[in-house]
Amino acid sequence: MGIKLPHPALGVIVPACLIEFIGHSAHFFIFKHYFSTKKQILFECFLAMIWISYYIAIKKDPGQAPSDYKSVSGEWKRWCKKCEAYKPERTHHCKTCKKCVLKMDHHCPWTANCVGYKNMPHFMRFLFWVDFTTGFVFVELFKRGWQFWEERNYPAYMFRKSELVFLMILIMMDGFVFLSVGLLTLKCMIHITSGMSQIETWEWERVESQLRSERFWHRIRNNYQNLHGKPMPKLKSIRAEQYFYYNDSDAAKKSDHWLFSIDDIVFPYDIGFWNNIVDQLNYPWLWLLPWTGPKGDGILFAKTDLLEEDQLGLPWPPDGGHQVIEELDFEPEVDHDAKESYIFKSRKDLNRKEWINNMGEKLTDYGVDVDVEAEEPLESVLKEKSG
Ligand SMILES: [Zn+2]
Ligand SMILES: [Zn+2]
Repeated sequence: MGIKLPHPALGVIVPACLIEFIGHSAHFFIFKHYFSTKKQILFECFLAMIWISYYIAIKKDPGQAPSDYKSVSGEWKRWCKKCEAYKPERTHHCKTCKKCVLKMDHHCPWTANCVGYKNMPHFMRFLFWVDFTTGFVFVELFKRGWQFWEERNYPAYMFRKSELVFLMILIMMDGFVFLSVGLLTLKCMIHITSGMSQIETWEWERVESQLRSERFWHRIRNNYQNLHGKPMPKLKSIRAEQYFYYNDSDAAKKSDHWLFSIDDIVFPYDIGFWNNIVDQLNYPWLWLLPWTGPKGDGILFAKTDLLEEDQLGLPWPPDGGHQVIEELDFEPEVDHDAKESYIFKSRKDLNRKEWINNMGEKLTDYGVDVDVEAEEPLESVLKEKSG
């Protein structure tokens, strides 16, 4: 993410060269000398699975929004200026693919493709085969290295120099790929089990960092009034005591919502550990089949039972996507004594386009074309929905 390649083709050429170099130099300079034929064939099968799953991850459509989509109740009415169509919840327009992608996760430069609802299982399968095969190579190289160590007192002519050189190069390269792809796989699995796309994780962090911003609450109150036809009641927190440290100054205490914490916000698409996995990746016993796709359609999503505990009763994200900084009809109180870090304080009033997460990433770093994401004025949308 956030990686700018000099040419998009490099994103595919670099991983392809890495796979080819590690796979076949390990086979021909090392494994060939001590693997049985059967084991050599098995290893070639692992490599073939990487190539097949990589090809599918590059080619598979991440899922496009139907051009005649009509917004349904319980979601923001979201218009894409480029596609000139309404798009389903969780859909974003990708700047590189130039289309609206269902449950867009991120644009991946290494597959030159978006990762969205429809191709997430294929992307994960590619990561799995890379993890599995590089893990296998690492163990075998280590075993071979150990053997060399034990035979270190043998005369030099008994060793193949090329084997020793490649052993050292490959252990480092293979270990690097195993670690970096392994970490990415872990990160993706954490997102999948929590029911969030990478973009939604970013959005959740934004909401959390803006929870003490008067501007944020101004939008929420407006949304609530428009959707429910009455002023938003005073919110309460079930975990209030733990969150006093957020901002315990007198100025903050005057706000109606100062006890309300991020844990009181209900993320609508988290339908539980098992259901989150099955919805996105399908049943585990189908995972290794190269054609297994997700379970749903990527257009309509099941919502959590916890929505009853949702005091805001607004679609996600609760402050809407309409993120231009409005003229406020009041002066937001500046709390000079707040015990907040500089970055936390400075980010809380930024609009969605400008906001950065702890890693310094903006929404555009995930590939989203933020400029075409403008929503219709919320008033008309919400009245239509509630009416
Ligand atoms: Zn679009
Ligand atoms: Zn894309």
